[in-house]
Amino acid sequence: MPSEFELIARYFSRPAGPGQLGVGDDCALFPVPSGSHVATSTDLLVEGRHFYPDVDPAALGHKSLAVNLSDLAAMGARPLGCVLGLALPRADDAWLAPFSQGWHALADTWQCPLIGGDTTGSALGLTISVTVFGAVQAGQALRRDAAMPGDDIWVSGELGAADVAYRLLDGQLAADPVRLAATRRALEWPQPRVGLGLALAGLAHAAIDISDGLLQDLGHILAASKVGAQVRYADLPVAASLEGLDEGVRRRAVLGGGDVYELCFTAAPSDRERVQQAAHGAGVRVTRVGSVQADSGLAVLDAAGRPMAELPAGFDHFPASARP
Ligand code: ADP
Ligand code: MG
Repeated sequence: MPSEFELIARYFSRPAGPGQLGVGDDCALFPVPSGSHVATSTDLLVEGRHFYPDVDPAALGHKSLAVNLSDLAAMGARPLGCVLGLALPRADDAWLAPFSQGWHALADTWQCPLIGGDTTGSALGLTISVTVFGAVQAGQALRRDAAMPGDDIWVSGELGAADVAYRLLDGQLAADPVRLAATRRALEWPQPRVGLGLALAGLAHAAIDISDGLLQDLGHILAASKVGAQVRYADLPVAASLEGLDEGVRRRAVLGGGDVYELCFTAAPSDRERVQQAAHGAGVRVTRVGSVQADSGLAVLDAAGRPMAELPAGFDHFPASARP
């Protein structure tokens, strides 16, 4: 079992980025491009609530950083660096090695070096705290309050697979090893759309990453922008791995399923071609799924253009029965 300092040196001391002071001093230092704002976001991941105790540690390292990079993507920000807080039940090399590998591989992909953190023991299970820093040109950030009436609504990638995998693992859906094998990667190895977010900065209007379900997260854009929207159910990009599922399960997964980490964004109809080019350049598929309206409210239209009833709600960490 490594000591705290051996553990940090072995698993979390990596070269910092150009001009940066990374792990090893009292604070990390990093330069910020001139004319940019710092975008920062933090997430707390708690064993039993955000991940299963027996989840693959490499996937957990990846996902812990991925969900934070996804927030930078949704803001159109370029990653600068990240910090990691760990409360560990034990200092276990067999867990730390794959966890840190999963983390650093994604950090390298998006040039988001680990520049600091904190490590402590824990008597109450594993807790992971991640903070990312990014840079976005002043005035170009993709804010939630910037949707305009008449905007197209776009979604990147595909919807639904992570929710189905989650419900299969949680026992809410009957065991189905074939379906689980087809959907599990979406839940455990989400790919943050950093390149797409960068390509959309200054082009798209509002954006959000889908963590709690399309309807709930789009609802945040609409509320912040004081607008409404219509979404066409038949146009939503549904993962092929959902084929053959019961319609109720499918609908809940596509409209209400969380852990997606795709971007939902709005842009002017006159910019359709530019949006497609931005997505092509980032190597990500984007689909136009609806439009923003001046009137408040969010309607999901069926294939006949009628508003669908019984829409699923998103995930709430404090359901009414458990509010503090
Ligand atoms: P301090 O006493 O100043 O808080 P620590 O002994 O906690 O310093 O940490 C020593 C160095 O290791 C610091 O640079 C800190 O940012 C870094 N560090 C500690 N834990 C982690 C971690 N989990 N990931 C990355 N860096 C870490
Ligand atoms: Mg410390």
